[in-house]
Amino acid sequence: MSERIPCTNPACGNTVLPATAAANGGLCAPCLGAIRKKEREEYIRLNRRTVNLYEGVTDPVEIAIIMLSRRRYDPLIAYAPSPVSCENLFASFTASDGARLAEAAAQAFDNGNVDLAEDIAKTLATLTDYDLTEMLRVFVRADHHWPAIAFRGAKPEIRNAIILSLNAGQANANHALSALAWIGDDVVRESFLKWDAEVPAWVSKLHVAPSAYAEEAGWKVVGDKRCNLFHEECLAITQVPEGNEDASAKLFQKTEQACPWCGNSLSHMIDLDLSDPRFSFLGFTGPRLLVLTCHACTCYGGGFFSKIDHEGIAVPHALGVKPEWLPDPSSEWGAPAWRDVPFALTPRRAIHSADWCMELKSSQIGGLPCWVQDSEYPKCPECSTTMQFIAQLNQDDLPGHEGTYYAFLCYSCRTTATSYQQT
Ligand SMILES: [Zn+2]
Ligand SMILES: [Zn+2]
Ligand SMILES: [Zn+2]
Repeated sequence: MSERIPCTNPACGNTVLPATAAANGGLCAPCLGAIRKKEREEYIRLNRRTVNLYEGVTDPVEIAIIMLSRRRYDPLIAYAPSPVSCENLFASFTASDGARLAEAAAQAFDNGNVDLAEDIAKTLATLTDYDLTEMLRVFVRADHHWPAIAFRGAKPEIRNAIILSLNAGQANANHALSALAWIGDDVVRESFLKWDAEVPAWVSKLHVAPSAYAEEAGWKVVGDKRCNLFHEECLAITQVPEGNEDASAKLFQKTEQACPWCGNSLSHMIDLDLSDPRFSFLGFTGPRLLVLTCHACTCYGGGFFSKIDHEGIAVPHALGVKPEWLPDPSSEWGAPAWRDVPFALTPRRAIHSADWCMELKSSQIGGLPCWVQDSEYPKCPECSTTMQFIAQLNQDDLPGHEGTYYAFLCYSCRTTATSYQQT
C-alpha cells in the first residue's frame, strides 16, 4: 500500500494517496473543490448579464404575463424587476385588459402551461372583480378546479360543472370542494350538507366532512344558513412615515398586565377607537375594541383568549389553556414587529390578500384572513361557536420579520382570541 502524502496547499493539513495527488495536481479533494467553486463563482460574476424582459413593453396585459411567468433559475441571468408592482398593475387594468388576460390564462391552460394559467387565474380573482366565467369554463372542462380561490363567486354553470365532476368521480375532491367553498352560494351550502349526511364514496376518502371546506373560504353553515366568519369591509394597515400615522388605532401596545403563563407583559394586539366611523362595520359596541394577547404564548398551543368586560377592559380569559410547551421564560422575547410602527388605514378589497402564495402585504382590519398554513378559526371558550376573524398583522410586511398574528371575536360573549402562523 502506498504511503499518503501531504496536500500541496500549505494551509491544509490533509494527506492524499499518491494517485489522487497525481490526478489533482497535488491537492486533496476538499482543496480542489474549493478552487473549482471559486473559479465557477468568478465565471458567473464575469458572465452574468441582466435581462430586462419588460423592455419596450407597454401593454399592461403583456406586463402581467411576463410578471407571472415562472422562469427557470439560471445563475448567469439576473432578471430586471418589473417596472410596476403587481397590485398597481392590476389596479390600472381596464375591463378589456381583464378579459384579455383571462383569455391568455385559458390559452396557457390549453397549451399545457398550467402554472401560468393558475397564477393568472388567482391574481385576477384576488386583485380584480372581473367575471372569470370564460376562463373557468376551460378549467372545468378538464375537471381542473385549482386554484380554488379563482372560483370566487363563480356562476351557476361553473358550480354545476364542478358538482357533476365530483359526482362522476372525476374531480380531485379536495380541490373541487375548496373551489365550491369559494363559490359559496345556496346550492353549494345545500350540497355540502347533503354530502355530509349521505357520505358518497368520494367523501369517505376525505379527512373532514364536506361542509368543513366552507371555512377555507371564510364561512360556515349554521342551521340552514351561510354565516360569514369575516367582514366584507377591509382596512389595509400600511407603514407610513412618522407624523402621518392614523390616530384611531394602536398595534401591540404594552399593558400593565403580566401574562399568567410566561410573565411577559400582555399587549393589545389591536386597540381600536370605536368613535371612528371607519370601524362601524365591525359592529362592536363600546368605546374601544381591545384584543388582549401575549405575543409570546400565542405562538404556542391553541391561541390566547381574553374577555372584554362591560367597562371595556380586556382581561385574560379564565377558560384559556396554558400551552403544553413554552420556551424558557428567561429567554429574550423580541417585541412584536408592528409595535410603535407608524401606519395608516386604507380601504382594500376583502379578498385582496387571501392567497398566501401571492406574497402580498396582508396586515389589515376586517376582510378575509391570509392563512400561512391551514385555515384555523378558533372556537369561543364560552359558547363553542366558531369565532369571527377581525384582524391580522403580518410581520413579513416589515423588513427582517416573519409570521402572522390573527385576531378573532365572539360577539355574543365579548371574548377575543389571537393565534399565530408562520411557514
Ligand atoms: Zn488540501
Ligand atoms: Zn405569555
Ligand atoms: Zn362565545
